Amino acid sequence: MTNNYGPTLVISGGAGTIERDNFPAEEQQKYLDALKESLRVGYKILIEGGSSIDAVEASVISLEDCPLFNAGKGSVFTIGGKNELESSIMLGIPSHTAGACTLLHTIKNPIVLAKTLLLDPENPHVFLGGIEAEKYAKSKGLEMVDPSYFFTEQRWKQHMDGLEKGKSSENIGYDAPQLNFNDASQPEFDPSPMGTVGAVAVDVNGIIAAATSTGGFNNKKDGRIGDTPLIACGTWADNDTCGVSGTGNGEYFIRFSVARDVSARMQYLGENLHEAATTVIENLRKVGGNGGVVALDKYGNVAMPFNTSGMYRGYIRTSDGIPHAYIF
Ligand code: ASP
Repeated sequence: MTNNYGPTLVISGGAGTIERDNFPAEEQQKYLDALKESLRVGYKILIEGGSSIDAVEASVISLEDCPLFNAGKGSVFTIGGKNELESSIMLGIPSHTAGACTLLHTIKNPIVLAKTLLLDPENPHVFLGGIEAEKYAKSKGLEMVDPSYFFTEQRWKQHMDGLEKGKSSENIGYDAPQLNFNDASQPEFDPSPMGTVGAVAVDVNGIIAAATSTGGFNNKKDGRIGDTPLIACGTWADNDTCGVSGTGNGEYFIRFSVARDVSARMQYLGENLHEAATTVIENLRKVGGNGGVVALDKYGNVAMPFNTSGMYRGYIRTSDGIPHAYIF
């Protein structure tokens, strides 16, 4: 018999090269505390009978507002020295309702815009980007900020270090775009720092919602759009199978439609959540794609596989009501 754990929330703070030896315990604790706080905020909504979409939004806002994670306040810089944010959200109901946004510079919490798009009965579109998305957000009364709000010393240093590294390696001017992501024979690219935040929840009514938000990766090309705002790639939700939020090398997540692939394996092959999610991440590893997913099904089973050295992640559910957070 299948366990039914009831309302459950699983979150991610990003996957990547996280080395235990170079990561002091007190620094690790800061990340774990921030993950637990995000779990508590979302779970409070679920446990009071609130909806999964409100829970994932609240969890993601908490991570977007925390400068430790690469989303919202802690977003990385593009090669041109800007912060370009993106996000998406999806409900597991039969209509597959979703909202997504990209190329944002002035919206404090991109996940709020994604949710607003999803819920707005007058909005016919799933996906809005750039200036028009920002105008729409303003018209809906969302919190707008000056682009300088997203500046943090740490991210700027990573941006400058990346530029410097690029200069010293002869033929390239910067970190990322010299690689052809379509060619698996290219040397492995480690977008350092990686990151992206995400949350997936199932509520008391068995409705699943998934949300993902990111700054992309350090020194991405200006105008680059990753997997995070792309439904089926970085985010997916289907009450009959699962909800998924991805983090990792977005070019792979796009080309292998990672989030939807987990759900499709459950739907067409009859795999359980754990089998489907771990197989997809293992398959990704075989083709050179780095990353992981957090996922859950309507029973509150949780999967958090990753093929990198670490992934900030955690879950909480009614069986003990305690936030569980992990890095390695
Ligand atoms: N998936 C994100 C992107 O490619 C980055 C990440 O999750 O680390 O934009």
